[in-house]
Amino acid sequence: MSNINQSGWRPEMTPERRSDNATFTGNRALMLEEPLIFEIGSTETTGVEVAAPAKVASKLGGLERAQPIGLAGLSEPEAVRHYTRLSRQNYAIDLGLFPLGSCTMKHNPRLNEKVARLPGFADVHPLQPVETVQGAFEVIHQLAHWLVTLTGMHSVAMSPKAGAHGELCGILAIKAALEAKGEGHRKVILVPESAHGTNPATAAFAGYSVEDIPATADGRVDVAALKSRLGPDVAGVMITNPNTCGLFEREMRTISDAVHAAGGFVYCDGANFNAIVGRVRPGDLGVDAMHINLHKTFSTPHGGGGPGAGPVVFSEALTPFAPLPFVEQQGDHFALVEEESAGEHHGKSFGRMVAFHGQMGMFTRALTYILSHGADGLRQVAEDSVLNANYILRSLENTLDAPFAASGPCMHEAIFSDDGLPEGFSTIDIAKGLIDEGYHPMTMYFPLVVHGAMLVEPTETESKAALDQFIGALRSVAERAKAGDEGLKSAPHFAPRRRLDETLAARKPVLVWKDPQLAEAAE
Ligand SMILES: *Cc1c(COP(=O)(O)O)cnc(C)c1O
Repeated sequence: MSNINQSGWRPEMTPERRSDNATFTGNRALMLEEPLIFEIGSTETTGVEVAAPAKVASKLGGLERAQPIGLAGLSEPEAVRHYTRLSRQNYAIDLGLFPLGSCTMKHNPRLNEKVARLPGFADVHPLQPVETVQGAFEVIHQLAHWLVTLTGMHSVAMSPKAGAHGELCGILAIKAALEAKGEGHRKVILVPESAHGTNPATAAFAGYSVEDIPATADGRVDVAALKSRLGPDVAGVMITNPNTCGLFEREMRTISDAVHAAGGFVYCDGANFNAIVGRVRPGDLGVDAMHINLHKTFSTPHGGGGPGAGPVVFSEALTPFAPLPFVEQQGDHFALVEEESAGEHHGKSFGRMVAFHGQMGMFTRALTYILSHGADGLRQVAEDSVLNANYILRSLENTLDAPFAASGPCMHEAIFSDDGLPEGFSTIDIAKGLIDEGYHPMTMYFPLVVHGAMLVEPTETESKAALDQFIGALRSVAERAKAGDEGLKSAPHFAPRRRLDETLAARKPVLVWKDPQLAEAAE
């Protein structure tokens, strides 16, 4: 039955898969077409023939598989080529500018990687005796010191493993603090409309009901509306600063004072800390808890490229409720404070977030990044990220609608809307057109407060030449939309796959591959 060659190509694949610009193979120059792994190879042509085992009495109660399992049967070169081809269809920050707003896709210095791979850091085991991992503990302790210093906060919980996990950690500490005060009846968390979806999800997961705070016309929290909602049922607020419209919440101190006066706590989503690091200390703004996405601000391959880490900095009021364990310096020794050894300062801890200490590899990378940049370098990270975003904003504000451009500069991301595109054209057409131009699209349709939002975060690691090329590409695509270019509606034309029915894929995902021959035999 097998008419498959080593490349996975089969004659029946060619005709309709590539009706446009068809080649014999379906490949486009050196961009190779790739079938599903199940469509390559065959269970009959690869593998090892093992003698059938002696009959045993089944203990499966009639649940034995009656048909072949249908796993892909690939030779080693077929398997290697399959994954290598797929990897070439992926876009990465090491290939080009990655304008995904909110995600901070910036260059990851290779120095971080080199240090994280030193055997003394990479090969430690979380259950090793404390005496044998003093260096690793010192790294955690030093990083904790710099995170507390940079944020102007009182303490930090290092163990949460991502931004969203950090949010949960912060909200659980707030919950524990309220319960300790006999105020467990406060059941409402206020969240601005522009918030990242993880904020309301975290509050709801922790048992709170979530209420929206509206935004003003200039894209910031409506402080009057927030103040009027404060009361004895409000546990706290979750505010992102700079916010997801790429704007600094200038009234943050006023907001914090009002929330504290009403008996609540202030959670700050610190995912955008890269825009203010070295310039603003959230502790000075009255924040009680804030997560820092080490993978965003302090750079690590993330978003399919590797794990993250979301340490949470705390105010003095919340410090006693922070999770365990944590590293503490005792003289020239670093100790791990666990439940049994927690003194009165941490006796009220809400518990544990993870089994061990957190993401050691991320800690090493973040500390390397911090120490190699220094105070002036970190400040410049923030300044350059803001400069680059404003360059994009001002270069494109006459091409695309920029809803908040009139109210002043943006922070580290520029936001545009689909206002002004002709009938029948939307943000999705711009995004798909950008793929043909060789870019991963910007963040689309988020935040929800901007219609057809396009959120562009260039980051500080792009050169002016790279920004100019991206601006040229985005301007060209936007102008095609404005001219009513129908071809844009079926973009991308040059990608391995054309425009997909994303709604159908989300609503009716096909998650299981069925062997057509087995399916036929079963009929
Ligand atoms: C990225 C991000 C998060 C979530 O962080 P993860 O590390 O992906 O869990 C939360 N809020 C904002 C504003 C973000 O940009």
